[in-house]
Amino acid sequence: MKSPLLASKLCEIFGKDGEITVRRMLAAAAGDYPALVKGVSDFIDAADQLVQRFSSLHQVQADLSGDAFSDWNLKTGRIDSGKQWKTLLDYADADLEDSIHAWRLLVQPDDLQAFNAAVVAHARGESRFFQAECRLKSKTGSWKSLFLKGMVAARDAAGEPVRLLLLHRDITEFRASAVEAESARVSAEAASRARSFFIANMSHEIRTPMNGIIGMTDLALDTQLDAEQRHYLKTVKSSAESLLSIVNDVLDFSKIEAGKLRFEKIPFSLSSLVFEAVRNQAVEAHKKGLEVIVSLSPDVPARIVGDPTRVRQVISNLMGNAVKFTEQGTLSVTVSVEERGADFVLLRFAVRDTGIGIPVSRQGAVFEAFSQADDSTTRRYGGTGLGLSICTHLVQLMGGKIWLDSAEGQGSCFYFTARFSVDSAVEDEVKESRFDGQRLLLLEGHPALAEQLAMLLTDCGVQVTVIADPQEALAVLKKTQTLGFPYSIVMADAHMPPPAGIVLAESWKSLGYPGKLIMLLDTEQQRQHLKRLRELGVDAHLVKPVAREDLIEALQSLDGQREAEDLLLDSFVFPEQFSGNESEQVEVLLVEDNPVNQELAQRLLIKRGYSMTLANNGAEAVECFEKAHFDLILMDVQMPVMDGIEAAESIRSREMRRSWVVSQEFRPVYIIAMTANAMDGDRERCLQAGMNDYVAKPIKPSELYAAIDRGLSDGQGSEDDASALRTLTETSLDLRAAMRDLGDQDLLQTMAGMLVSEWDQHLSRIQSDLTEKNAEKLCMDAHTIKSLLAIFHGEKARRMALELEHAAKQAEGVDWGHCVQLAATLAEEMAQLKPEMEHFVRDGSLR
Ligand code: ADP
Repeated sequence: MKSPLLASKLCEIFGKDGEITVRRMLAAAAGDYPALVKGVSDFIDAADQLVQRFSSLHQVQADLSGDAFSDWNLKTGRIDSGKQWKTLLDYADADLEDSIHAWRLLVQPDDLQAFNAAVVAHARGESRFFQAECRLKSKTGSWKSLFLKGMVAARDAAGEPVRLLLLHRDITEFRASAVEAESARVSAEAASRARSFFIANMSHEIRTPMNGIIGMTDLALDTQLDAEQRHYLKTVKSSAESLLSIVNDVLDFSKIEAGKLRFEKIPFSLSSLVFEAVRNQAVEAHKKGLEVIVSLSPDVPARIVGDPTRVRQVISNLMGNAVKFTEQGTLSVTVSVEERGADFVLLRFAVRDTGIGIPVSRQGAVFEAFSQADDSTTRRYGGTGLGLSICTHLVQLMGGKIWLDSAEGQGSCFYFTARFSVDSAVEDEVKESRFDGQRLLLLEGHPALAEQLAMLLTDCGVQVTVIADPQEALAVLKKTQTLGFPYSIVMADAHMPPPAGIVLAESWKSLGYPGKLIMLLDTEQQRQHLKRLRELGVDAHLVKPVAREDLIEALQSLDGQREAEDLLLDSFVFPEQFSGNESEQVEVLLVEDNPVNQELAQRLLIKRGYSMTLANNGAEAVECFEKAHFDLILMDVQMPVMDGIEAAESIRSREMRRSWVVSQEFRPVYIIAMTANAMDGDRERCLQAGMNDYVAKPIKPSELYAAIDRGLSDGQGSEDDASALRTLTETSLDLRAAMRDLGDQDLLQTMAGMLVSEWDQHLSRIQSDLTEKNAEKLCMDAHTIKSLLAIFHGEKARRMALELEHAAKQAEGVDWGHCVQLAATLAEEMAQLKPEMEHFVRDGSLR
C-alpha cells in the first residue's frame, strides 16, 4: 500500500485528523518503512472490522426500533449501506436505486429545502447533528412523514463532507393522531364556545320572566291572604329565588368560559356595599340564630373604584356558603388593607364561619367547577358547586387571589384579595361625627361583637363601658343613678337573657333611668319585636350587623328631643300622604312594551290608587299625551316603533308649543325613565331628552315610589299650592280617614287632645318667628304644624302650612310680607278647625 493511498483511505475513514496522524507516523518511522506499512495496514483492517461491527450493531438497533439507518457516500452519490428506508416507504429493494438522487426524488419539495438547509448548517459546524421532518412519497402514492436525524461521518482533505449517516424514523401515525387531536381540540373549543353562548342567551331569557315571577309574587304577598295561601306564595318566591340564583351562576360561569365577562370601573362606597351584601344573607343567618359581625379596618378607603357588582357577588357567595354550612355560632366578614400604593389599594376580605369545615383533602377541589366537598349522592346540602369556581375567576380578574383556611368540624375562613383604584377626591370628604362627652353602657354578651361596637363608638368620641352580665348591668345602672352620674345612653342587645334583652326594654320606663335606650336587634327580632319596641317607646334601635353610619344616625337621633319628635311625626305622616285623597287625582301614563313589566308597574301604580293609562310604545305615548292630561309619565327607554328618548323629546317639543298658548297655567309633565341599563351614560341621555328622573329595571317598588314621590312633590311650590287651594274650598278635618290610617281611636283622641292643648302655642311660635324674622325657626314651626294637620287630614290648612314652610325656605331671600299674610290665613283656617277638633277630643265621635 502506497502512502498517499493509505493516507487518503485513512482520511476517508477517520477524517482530516486521521490523515495528519498518519503523516506524522510516516515521518517518524522513515527508517523501517515496510514494517510501518504492515502495521498500519493491520490497523486499518482492524478498524474496518470495527466499523462493520459498529454499523451492524446500528443495523440491529435500527431493526429493533423500526428505524432505518443508512450511510450516504456524498462523493459517489450512492447509499452504501442500509436499505430499510425503502421498506419504510413500502418499496422492495429492487424498486429503487441505492442512490441519494432516487431518495431526493421522493421528498416533498418544501421539506427537501428545509432538509438541505439543516444539512448545510450542520456541515458548516453549526450543530452536532442535523434533523428535519420530511414527507416522502410511498409506493402507494401516499405521503409518509419521516423524522430524519444524521451527521457527517467523514470529510475529505479539503474538509468537505464525504460520508453522511442518516436515521429515518416513520412518524406518520403519530403525525396523523396529532393532527386529529388538534382538529378535535379546535372543534371541541368551538363547541364549548357555542354551548357557552347558548347558555348565556338562554339564561338571560330565563331571567326576565323569573324577575316577573318574583316581582308578582311579592305583590301578591302584600295583599290580604290567609295563612295557607301565604305559605304557598312564600314557597313560590323562595323556589323562584333559588332557581334565579342557579341561573345567575350558570350565566356567569358560561360568560367566564366564553371570555365574555366585562368589568366596570366605577367609584363606590365599600362599606355600604359590604353591609348591603352581608345584610341580604343576614336574614337567613339570624333565622338560624347565628351572630353576624362586619368590620372594616379604619385604614380601608371610604370610596374605591372598581366593579361593585362583582365584589358584591363574591362576598354574597362566600356569605351564602357560610350561612348554608353553619348551624350555630358566628359569621364574620372583615376587610383590611393588604397593600397600598400611590393610586391603588389591595384589599383583603375574610369571611369566617363556625360551621362544618372542609377536610384538608377536599380543600383544593372545592374551587373547581361543579365540585363539592361532599360528593356523595346522599349529601345534605344543595348547590351546583359553581359558586367558588366563579369566585376564583372573578377574584383573579380583579387582580387578586382566593384561598381558605379550614379544618373539619371547626369552621372555615375564606379569604380573597382584590385590587382597586382609590377615589381620593371623595375620600377626603368623609365627614367626622363626634359625640364627645357621651357616656354609654353597652350590654353585650358576645365578646367579638362587643369589641367591634366599642371600637366604633370610641372612634366617635363616646366613652364606652362594656358589661356582659345582665344582673351586673342592672346593678351598675342603679348605682350610677343613685350617685347622680347616670350613663347618657344604654345600648342593649335584645338577644341577652332576662333581665336584659327584650325584658329590659319592657321594664325600661319603670326603671326610671334618665339615659336613652338603644336596642340592638337582629333581623328576626326586628320582624318580631319592632312594633312592640315602638309601643314601649324605646328611643332607638339598631339592626345587626351594625355599620358605622347606622350608629352615627342612631346617636344623632337621640340628640335633642325636639328633633326626635319631628322625626316621629314625619314617620306618621309620610306613608299616608299619597294613599289619601290626593292620590286619586294623580293621572299616570305608563309607557312600556314588555307585558310582565306592564303588569308589575300597573299593579304598583294601582296599589297607590293612581289612575293609569297604558301606552305600548313611544308613538302611542305621544298620542295619549296629545289627547289627555297626565301628572306623571313612566317611560321605558328601549321600545319598538319609537323609543323612550325620542318620545320624551317629542313630548317636550309639543309642550313648548303649548306653553305659548296657555301661558302661566302651563306646567311640564314629570317624566320618569325606566331602563335596564343602569349606566351613567343612560341617565345623561334621558335627562338630555328632557326626562326628569330615572329608575333602574328590574323595577323595585321602593325605588319607583320614591321617584314618583319626588315627581309629585316637585313643583308643589307656592304657585302649585295656590291653584290646588282654589279647589279645596271646604274647611274641614277628615277624622274618619285619620282613624283609618292610625287604626286606634284612643291614640287618635289622645293625639288630638295634645294638639288642642298646644294649639295656641303653635300659632304664637309662628308669630314670634315672624317678629324675630327667624326664617329657620319659622320653617321648622310651620313644618310641625303641617305634620300635625296631616295626621288629622286637615288638608286645606296643611297646604297653607306647607306653603308657609316653603316661603320661609326661599333661597333668594324670604319675602316677610308674604309670610305674614300666609301665617294670617293659616291662623284663620286653623281657628275654624279648632271647634271640630275640640268636639272630637270631648266625645270621640267621628263626623
Ligand atoms: P355550592 O355551594 O353551590 O355547592 P360552591 O362552589 O360555592 O358550590 O362550594 C363548593 C363546595 O365547597 C360546597 O358544596 C361545600 O362542600 C364546600 N364549601 C364551600 N363553602 C363552605 C363553607 N363555608 N363551609 C363548608 N363547606 C364549604
